[in-house]
Amino acid sequence: MARYTDSVCRQCRREGTKLFLKGDRCYSAKCAVTKRHTPPGQHGQSRARKSSEYGLQLREKQKVRRAYGVLESQFRKYYDMAANMRGVTGENMLSLLERRLDNVVYRLGFGVSRPMARQMVTHGHIRVDGKKVDIPSFLVKPGQVITVRENSRDIPVLKELREQGSAKPVPKWLELDADNLSGKVAAMPARDDIDLTIEEHLIVEFYSR
Ligand code: SF4
Repeated sequence: MARYTDSVCRQCRREGTKLFLKGDRCYSAKCAVTKRHTPPGQHGQSRARKSSEYGLQLREKQKVRRAYGVLESQFRKYYDMAANMRGVTGENMLSLLERRLDNVVYRLGFGVSRPMARQMVTHGHIRVDGKKVDIPSFLVKPGQVITVRENSRDIPVLKELREQGSAKPVPKWLELDADNLSGKVAAMPARDDIDLTIEEHLIVEFYSR
């Protein structure tokens, strides 16, 4: 499967916002977005000019897609699924992205970033209702319990979580039991559970053109 292999900080600089792809570094003064405010590349400065309506829609779509680490074809599928659901398409789409297993692992603090959480899933460290699930796009449902494999509990980030608790707030739709490295899906994620600054209506407009 195709993966993005360039510097992840370039993605944040391109979108002009923090996408939190690197863990602790994202919260430090070393963050590339904090240090430089222009898009990457030789002509980054000149690219920072005012965008067209299409440009704004495209950038918003890319920002969300990159934050969740999803390829274009898969992102389009989330949009199609969301458009066929009841309710507001943009909110449905964000809710689907939030329910991805790699995102849930990140939200529970089992990984310091979504890329790390994704690796935790693909490397077989994660169980859902006691069964191994190594598919990052697996969609969790209310009532399901996400745990860490017994043999993986001494991974440094997990050891720290057990000893010190979660360093960042856990959204209210998830219940974390840090001592047991376990998290329960208490409800479907609501729009106000999503902390990225997103104008999802621009993404809907992008795909509705
Ligand atoms: Fe890099 Fe994280 Fe800053 Fe993004 S938020 S530029 S990934 S350090």
